[in-house]
Amino acid sequence: MIPHHILVFISFLEKFHFIKVFDPEYIETQRQALYIKKEYANSGMEEFTEDETGSFCSYLSEGCRLCQEGAKMVLFVTGLCPKNCFYCPLSDERRGKDLIFANERPVENDEDLLEEAGLMDAFGTGITGGEPLLKIERVLHYIRLLKSAFGTEHHIHLYTSLAPDRQLLEKLADAGLDEIRLHPPQENWWNLKHSPYADALKNAKKLGIEAGIEIPALEGAEKVAVFAEEMDVFLNLNELEFSDNNSEALLKSGFSLESDISSAAAGSCKYAEAAFSACKRAHFCSSTYKDAVQLRKRFQRIAKNTARKFDDITEDGTLVYGVIECGDQKLAEKILQDMEVPSELFEVKEGRIEIAWWVLEDIKEEIKEELEPYEARLSVIERYPFEGGMVVETIYLNNDRLLEEDDQP
Ligand code: SF4
Repeated sequence: MIPHHILVFISFLEKFHFIKVFDPEYIETQRQALYIKKEYANSGMEEFTEDETGSFCSYLSEGCRLCQEGAKMVLFVTGLCPKNCFYCPLSDERRGKDLIFANERPVENDEDLLEEAGLMDAFGTGITGGEPLLKIERVLHYIRLLKSAFGTEHHIHLYTSLAPDRQLLEKLADAGLDEIRLHPPQENWWNLKHSPYADALKNAKKLGIEAGIEIPALEGAEKVAVFAEEMDVFLNLNELEFSDNNSEALLKSGFSLESDISSAAAGSCKYAEAAFSACKRAHFCSSTYKDAVQLRKRFQRIAKNTARKFDDITEDGTLVYGVIECGDQKLAEKILQDMEVPSELFEVKEGRIEIAWWVLEDIKEEIKEELEPYEARLSVIERYPFEGGMVVETIYLNNDRLLEEDDQP
């Protein structure tokens, strides 16, 4: 028979939001789309791979390969941007603000950046924004900093919606930039051949920077694919996604949500299919892939370095542990010592004791009895694997059953 605490834990795991994206109906829709895309496998591409999240590719740049392993740190260098793309996914907290983030961590100084890279054991960094090249000195500084701290093999790619000239590209190449992805705004897609983007791609290649184009899968993507093929560069297509700030504009442009459990825009992947028939080195990155795989793998890497002995690391890279909060913390500590709970299985923090969830599950009745006059609150928490990481779920322990937050009076 499965022990009670394991059953409790399984029910806890079933509540993880990541599991929802593996909903059978949703996967079936994705699969059907993939069968259509397979037709393009016979159109001259040497390789064509697909996965269960709806992503497919005939080519993966080194930056994408590392990103798929969850080994790329995302370095957001500024929220400033001269463009005004209707699909821009930036949040109000970042858009138009000159802020720096390494993954989700605000960067105040170089140490913050290096610490975050070390924490996730990053093999590379993707520099993004806003428009990174508005802060060119900052970008050059970070490329040099990361290369000198983690070695030249630390792979760095950069997104830009601008077409950098030869002089600027030389500076980036000298600093050590490995890969550049140009993101021309949609209004340019029909005439890229005679635009500065063509020169930028040619120059980047001459300087030894791997060059490509990265755009959302939208009307006109096939024109960009033809251009990418002519320029002999790779093409990345991102599935268009609804976010808080672009949903109105996306609806106005005729897009709708693909399903209740996905933020992908229905129909976006059709534009990718058309583009795949025109470009041999292409990659379509699905919205589900970003959420369910990239993020999860990044969390797993971080969790390995941040989990305490008593934290349970889930398959999604989140941490699960128990929490004791009560009016007399000294007494709670003493009870744990009297019960001979090994000191490595709990940690005393300000206003709370964090403890192995399975230990708390075993001793909760005794603890509650002794701490009853002090309004003790016992819970099991799942949170993102970094300091101050978002709490995904809290389950309160009450009498001999578990109550979810919503059940609380
Ligand atoms: S270039 Fe990027 S950051 Fe700037 S508006 Fe367009 S999508 Fe947003």
